[in-house]
Amino acid sequence: MKNANLQEVMPAMDVRPNSDEARDIAYHFHSYTNAEAHEKIGPLIIESGEGIHVTDSNGNRYIEGMSGLWSVAVGFNEQRLVDVASRQMQKLPYYHNFSHRSHGPAIDLAEKLIEIAPVPMSKVFYTNSGSEANDTIVKMVWYRSNALGKPEKKKIISRLRGYHGVTVAAASMTGLPYNHKSFDLPMEGILHTTCPHYWREGQDGESEEAFASRCAQDLDDMIQSEGPETVAAFIAEPVMGAGGVVVPPATYWEKIQAVLAKYDILLIADEVICGFGRTGNMFGSTTFDIKPDILTMSKQITSSYFPFSAFMINDRVYQPIADESGRIGVLGHGYTGGGHPVGAAVALENIKIIEERDLVANAAERGAELQAGLTDLTSHPLVGEARGIGLIGALELIAPEGKSGDFAPGKLGAQMNAIMLRNGLISRNMTDAMAFCPPLIVGANDVREIIQITKKSLEELAADIN
Ligand code: PLP
Repeated sequence: MKNANLQEVMPAMDVRPNSDEARDIAYHFHSYTNAEAHEKIGPLIIESGEGIHVTDSNGNRYIEGMSGLWSVAVGFNEQRLVDVASRQMQKLPYYHNFSHRSHGPAIDLAEKLIEIAPVPMSKVFYTNSGSEANDTIVKMVWYRSNALGKPEKKKIISRLRGYHGVTVAAASMTGLPYNHKSFDLPMEGILHTTCPHYWREGQDGESEEAFASRCAQDLDDMIQSEGPETVAAFIAEPVMGAGGVVVPPATYWEKIQAVLAKYDILLIADEVICGFGRTGNMFGSTTFDIKPDILTMSKQITSSYFPFSAFMINDRVYQPIADESGRIGVLGHGYTGGGHPVGAAVALENIKIIEERDLVANAAERGAELQAGLTDLTSHPLVGEARGIGLIGALELIAPEGKSGDFAPGKLGAQMNAIMLRNGLISRNMTDAMAFCPPLIVGANDVREIIQITKKSLEELAADIN
């Protein structure tokens, strides 16, 4: 998938020597950016944030319709998080959890996470990013299989268009071409099954339930052909995020879990986006009645005010790992920054704010309004599908009838992205799907404004391409 089309839709920048823009181009190597195009387009420099808004270095104000990277639940100027971080910095700015060491924030947060877990969980392990959490989970799954005397049970199945991060194992589990191409990935032992996107993958005359059965059958067939004794775990996001906001079809999760149970395969719920209220419940696992053995958390756990991640495991996962570490003498894994006291303190306060202000209920209520607004926009000829749940959604753009040959994948999306930005709304195009994921503090008027700007932008896009 070529993603160079921003070059076509963003004007080349007039860059003053020694400006921030010029220095960014000169020295800053960006994540998820076309590095070649960046030299012409230059950066959008964000300087400040307030509530659901951010302001750039030219004074333009935007609704941050993506919460940064699906992550700033409580908005961009929450003083309580600033204060708690500052207090923790003064009291104990750093400590670790190697060799039986611990500290208050890590203990309090672990207890809290186990208390709010969607299913009974046993222990919390701390990491620093979503990718690192998922990479660690792969190692823990392997370690457990060895502990159980099943060294052949190591393969992990994820899904096409699933997103689990970018480190070697996490990127392998991610099911998107640009995360593999030229990186020599995916690595061996990681497999990808069907993406549960009914609108795109469903066949003529196939009901949603029949499509869900086909997805489950595809998974079953893959396990059978690999050998059930070689498959250790299945990883999935309750709702796919970066792969295009894909809400699974009715009965999908029930059928997938039945297949996993049949072959004694662990279920990993990657809740890096869904966790902490996004789908209208504290966890996406509750929304879809998923019973994971392992659950990944990051992003909204601290509203991304501090880099932080963690995963929870149940006793069936923990106990063999604990036994094996006893036999070896140590669990040979851990990160310097894992469970950082400042991050843990920020996470605790952030969860407290989500609970006190009932932001999960707000996500459900404002989410229903957002989804209704997006559904209304399907009457526009450039919209193929509206999808989503709670405060995560997408509009899939389609080319005007008879003109699909004129639009390479991603071209409409990139163009729409630029128009929305000009109109004061930050979205993100995942190929031609425009994502919506505003902070959980969003109000009813904000949701109306998001829909109005999107509608206006669709009209401008239609005028531009005709
Ligand atoms: N898992 C999911 C579901 C994600 O959406 C992401 C990031 O977008 C990750 C994992 C990786 O997280 P990070 O970027 O913190 O490594």
